[in-house]
Amino acid sequence: MTPTPEDVRRWDVEHLWHPFTQMAEYAATEPLVVARAEGHYLVDDRGRRYFDATSALWCNLFGHRVPEIDEAVREQLGRVAHSTLLGATHPAAAELARRLVEVAPAGLTRVFFSDDGATAVEAALKLAFQYRLLTRGEADAREATFLAIENAYHGDTLGAAAVGGVALFHETFRPILLRTLRVTTHDAGEVEAVLAREGGRVCGVILEPGVQAAAGMIRVPEGFLTKVARSTRRHGALLILDEVATGFGRTGAMFACQHEGVTPDLLCVAKGLTGGYLPVAATLAAETVYTPFLGGYAEYRHFFHGHTYTGNPLGCAAALATLKLLRERKLVEAVPAKSAVLREALAPLARHPHVGDIRLTGLMGGVVLLADRAANRAFAPDRRVGHRVGLAMRERGVFARPLGDVMVLMPPLTTTDDELRMLGAVLHAAVVEVLGP
Ligand SMILES: *Cc1c(COP(=O)(O)O)cnc(C)c1O
Repeated sequence: MTPTPEDVRRWDVEHLWHPFTQMAEYAATEPLVVARAEGHYLVDDRGRRYFDATSALWCNLFGHRVPEIDEAVREQLGRVAHSTLLGATHPAAAELARRLVEVAPAGLTRVFFSDDGATAVEAALKLAFQYRLLTRGEADAREATFLAIENAYHGDTLGAAAVGGVALFHETFRPILLRTLRVTTHDAGEVEAVLAREGGRVCGVILEPGVQAAAGMIRVPEGFLTKVARSTRRHGALLILDEVATGFGRTGAMFACQHEGVTPDLLCVAKGLTGGYLPVAATLAAETVYTPFLGGYAEYRHFFHGHTYTGNPLGCAAALATLKLLRERKLVEAVPAKSAVLREALAPLARHPHVGDIRLTGLMGGVVLLADRAANRAFAPDRRVGHRVGLAMRERGVFARPLGDVMVLMPPLTTTDDELRMLGAVLHAAVVEVLGP
């Protein structure tokens, strides 16, 4: 028997533990039950439509039920749904590895698949450590550590959280996290100073190029990446770039590091890779990182790491269709013009007394709400201002998920100019409803 909408709502609050969610608050709020979707719109169990301004939490590039991706997944389903990459391969994984190398910064030649952004980061950290071990020996590796940036977000597994720096997400777990080094700002001089001080102990420097998304869409100053890349080379650390949020066109380039022409040693991608369809992630590596892992079997130089669903064929098929759409429709090239439309649509918000920074890079937007703009003072968290503005947007047909009091707009790359203008107007109206004119 098919569950009724009432069954679903009851079972949801009785059993389902939602991520990043205060369940007591959630249970007291009218849930959004997504029954299906059409293009850029989610349709709830009562038939109401909502523009998905979260892009399914930042991974959906072209809207939902994209005919080309649907078809690619269906075709793959007719061949095989899942088969392992441990000791075997399949056409979709091999072709996807090839296509990723083609679009990635030149020099990244090897693709290690996993499932999510966090797992792509875990693989990168462990690769960087083992690379250190293989190239410099055990005594050196025992001292090895990582350098990360304040406000970074790299995912929620323990390794990824250890290099994270969003206090609200990560401080709770600090006692059980690997100890890492952190620089407090996007100050390349500080990165250089720490690397020099540590005298080669740092085996990897990890950062989000372009935008620190989960920190509230904070823009990374231009030139920072170039300088850090130079410092990492000078001090023998690997440069690990996390493009889980920024990859696949979001910033107006395929990858944000390409704005500065920087090739990292390791590149983590996930979210947009399958067009928001299925969990496939990848850690791309330079050939120089890969070769030390080669040797006789019994030398045990190989990378002892992997996940059951790594390189899942259905996900790889979705990713191949995604890369084809990006290429054929020139959607990455279209991002700067769309970004300009969104910038204009958000401009009227700047006059609102409770609006602080309006952050926008490509199609990654964040509008900061403040109790006192002049004093740069935040609202008390118990006022739930961002949450309430989000609910007011939902009443107006837009689904958005703020980061605290930063109103996030991450529309699909295919969002039309009219829809971008609508997003600006709806956010403005919601801010006025909750905070006054
Ligand atoms: C979302 C995100 C991650 C984690 O990805 P998951 O798929 O949620 O594990 C890692 N890094 C960045 C920059 C992200 O935005």
